Amino acid sequence: MTFLDRAIARTLPAVPKSIVRRVANRYIAGETTQEALDLVTKLNSKGFRATLDILGEHIHSMDQAQRAIQGYLNLLEDIARRRVESTISIKLTQLGLKLDPQHCADMAARLVRRAGELNNFVRIDMEDSSCTTATLQIYRDLRREFSNVGVVVQAYLRRTIDDVCALEELRPNYRLCKGVYVEPLELSYHDMRIINRNYVTILDRLLRGGSYVGIATHDELMVWEALRIIRELRLGPDAYEFQMLLGVEEQLRDIIHAGGHHVRIYIPFGRDWYAYSVRRLRENPRLAGYVFRAMLRGGLRR
Ligand SMILES: Cc1cc2nc3c(=O)[nH]c(=O)nc-3n(C[C@H](O)[C@H](O)[C@H](O)COP(=O)(O)OP(=O)(O)OC[C@H]3O[C@@H](n4cnc5c(N)ncnc54)[C@H](O)[C@@H]3O)c2cc1C
Repeated sequence: MTFLDRAIARTLPAVPKSIVRRVANRYIAGETTQEALDLVTKLNSKGFRATLDILGEHIHSMDQAQRAIQGYLNLLEDIARRRVESTISIKLTQLGLKLDPQHCADMAARLVRRAGELNNFVRIDMEDSSCTTATLQIYRDLRREFSNVGVVVQAYLRRTIDDVCALEELRPNYRLCKGVYVEPLELSYHDMRIINRNYVTILDRLLRGGSYVGIATHDELMVWEALRIIRELRLGPDAYEFQMLLGVEEQLRDIIHAGGHHVRIYIPFGRDWYAYSVRRLRENPRLAGYVFRAMLRGGLRR
């Protein structure tokens, strides 16, 4: 994280909303389900899969959690009706993880059950380290009843290698990412070289163990390492997929797809786009730096 990244993040509240909107347009599908599904249709026609995230999290009452779950239930119906290739990605704090963990687990089960009935799949995003233990426990409990649910693990956390060993007998469907929250050194690696090596170590272990892995990265070195492991293990394209965020490193995304690999695009949308964009950029100044550099490279296209 550079001084410039921190400076960009600090000046954000002073940036007019219309400008944030222009930047956010590249990374967020819009405010409505209709806009999000139109984008999914377009990406599907180019051969990409999708996963939809309704922007939210950090709720203050279980009523908000109830609204969030209803939003996702409606979304599942709309995905089925429009017959698009998209799963959903959820954040447990949006379903009340911090307010009432049992109720949150019940609501997650309700969502996964309905997704199963509609032949769909629910991915549980991983949030900051205060949520890791509870998220993995809810995932473990859900797997007693359902197979159409997957979880995310973060290569920057020191604990992750132990977490994946502990879950090994379930052969989870994973998304592996580096991790986006700012975590203390006691809990996470800060040195990108170590994070990268840990990413490769964990990926190798998951694929050897027979897990389906969503290889979530825009880092070409990680992509290269993943392709090396895939080749070494002689895995077919249905044993894994690459995953990227909407609007990020699109050229790399197209190259991977043209190489015959499945690519899923993570698509956030919803009315909370402004609060979400500003919070994320302030929480992690490195993102502000990425966005700023993408703008300089002509990133305000879409
Ligand atoms: C599909 C998907 C789902 C994710 N889900 C989670 C999750 O549940 N929990 C979690 O903690 N993290 C999640 N992340 C974020 C992830 O942890 C990383 O923070 C992020 O992907 C950057 O890591 P990287 O592997 O791309 O490598 P980096 O080395 O950080 O980035 C490589 C290059 O990609 C570009 N880049 C990366 N991120 C961005 C961005 N946001 N905007 C613009 N350019 C960017 C930059 O050009 C950068 O140089 C997810 C990422 C993806 C792709």
